Amino acid sequence: MNHDVDWVVVGSGFGGSVAALRLAEKGYSVTMLECGSRFRDEDFAESSLREPRRYFWAPRLGMRGVLRLTFFKDVLVVSGSGVGGGSLGYANTLYRPRPAFFDDPQWAELESWQTALAPHYEEAERMLGVATYDEDDPADDYLREYAEEIGVASTHAKTRVGVFLGAPGETVSDPFFGGEGPDRTGCLRCGRCMVGCPHGAKNTLVKNYLWFAERAGVTVMPERTVTDVKPLGAPDGSDGYTVTWTPSGLRPARSGCSFASTGRFMSS
Ligand code: SF4
Repeated sequence: MNHDVDWVVVGSGFGGSVAALRLAEKGYSVTMLECGSRFRDEDFAESSLREPRRYFWAPRLGMRGVLRLTFFKDVLVVSGSGVGGGSLGYANTLYRPRPAFFDDPQWAELESWQTALAPHYEEAERMLGVATYDEDDPADDYLREYAEEIGVASTHAKTRVGVFLGAPGETVSDPFFGGEGPDRTGCLRCGRCMVGCPHGAKNTLVKNYLWFAERAGVTVMPERTVTDVKPLGAPDGSDGYTVTWTPSGLRPARSGCSFASTGRFMSS
């Protein structure tokens, strides 16, 4: 059976970007379908309130920003939309879990997780350029004082962030990957991280995993909303899958678009 690509990755957030890069490095052909748009640093909204059309994702209403709100009966899900997924609009915080997580009785007996996962945390932190934030402001002082007041001062720590701190506003050749990555600009401490960093300081996925994935041959197709995944031939998927998409914002029945058959697919 003929397939157009080896793998289709649905979604270009953290899971999809890592998967796409590693699959391409192993020699597979990979196409990535992303429902949101592709943004340059200068494309992000300046304010979520003043520019809701550029901040929120609701394409049928003409809103094509980075933040999607999905309402269910009992829960509201906030997620990222755009090439780079949630990395475009999260708060850059990248913590390792505390020991209690690794020692949870649900899985503690299966493996020594803290040791087993340590090299993977180290690699993810290297790729995402994690650094300890290097400044204090009055909010930090209040938080530290409060921790002391209630007797938990030992739990206070500076935040680990995926940001190029560098010299504020200074653009330099790639500081993370031996010159193989994009130029970067030192963080200006402007606090726009969650709306979208306009300065090239935030280590979004387009600055690391996706940057290298596309260089390794991954095709990223923005503004494609996947509407169906069906086994191609054998019902267990052993012959591959057909992945159907529609241009984001159009109703599937009206657009009638479909994507070619694939060998495998992965939803991130
Ligand atoms: S330059 Fe501003 S938006 Fe970008 S990472 Fe620094 S504080 Fe966040």
